[in-house]
Amino acid sequence: MGKTVLITGGSRGIGKELVRQFCKAGYSVAFSYWEHQEEAVHLANSINNRNGLFRSDAAVPIQADVSDAQQVQKMFEYIEGSFGTGVDILINNAGIAQQKLFTDLTEEDWDRMFAVDVKGVFHCCQCALPRMIHRKEGKIINISSMWGQVGASCEVHYSAAKAAVIGLTKALAKELGPSQIQVNCIAPGVIDTPMNASFDEETMNALKEETPLGRIGTPKDIAMAALFLASEKADFITGQVLGVNGGMII
Ligand code: NAP
Repeated sequence: MGKTVLITGGSRGIGKELVRQFCKAGYSVAFSYWEHQEEAVHLANSINNRNGLFRSDAAVPIQADVSDAQQVQKMFEYIEGSFGTGVDILINNAGIAQQKLFTDLTEEDWDRMFAVDVKGVFHCCQCALPRMIHRKEGKIINISSMWGQVGASCEVHYSAAKAAVIGLTKALAKELGPSQIQVNCIAPGVIDTPMNASFDEETMNALKEETPLGRIGTPKDIAMAALFLASEKADFITGQVLGVNGGMII
């Protein structure tokens, strides 16, 4: 039987491409979404109906707010019911971003950022790990950000949350090494997704110019790195932060 992967935040952007590429590579894919149900259902239908062959279990969308422990717990129970098996590979991709001066940030802004971008990772890891530890097998891939490595002006809470994801990745990798579970992190650079839709053309061009490889990244760039980390080719890699940023951060 093929491996089962859970991709959080699969309705849009990077997560949507992760869903497509992992399905294409033969994984059974469960993916979560929160607000964009129509996009999530459309994505699942477009994959499951491919070539006229309907496979209802190729891509399964599940609505769950990752910041809510109970919803995450229910999502894992639903996956067990749908696939008859638990999660072999967990990709913590769901995230929010916000641009604001630090002095304008409210406590609510701070708490929501950490609830989704950090606590969401905590909840999903806690639900995925008992089975992985029991089987002494599993892979966790956390999507952080280059801003978690170097910090971004007007994104202090986002940078702090993404730095926390890097710390969590490294510590968890050490704790889970004896259980043969690899925990790694991808730190994307600027990627063309709805998350960056508020940036105007001038800003995007400036970011492109700052990037040694001279372009904005695509969701596929991230999906290819995730496929590698999920594969047997990465069995001796753990606790690492893989920058997929066109050389912007070296
Ligand atoms: P995006 O286009 O805004 O998509 C975000 C995804 O996360 C959506 O599927 C969204 O679901 C989901 N999500 C948001 N809040 C959620 C919640 N509370 N519970 C469950 N799902 C939730 O963002 P993206 O650019 O693809 O970013 C994906 C990841 O890459 C994020 O962790 C982001 O921080 C990171 N990243 C992105 C960039 C970039 O340049 N784009 C760079 C570095 C890192 P709904 O839309 O259905 O609510």
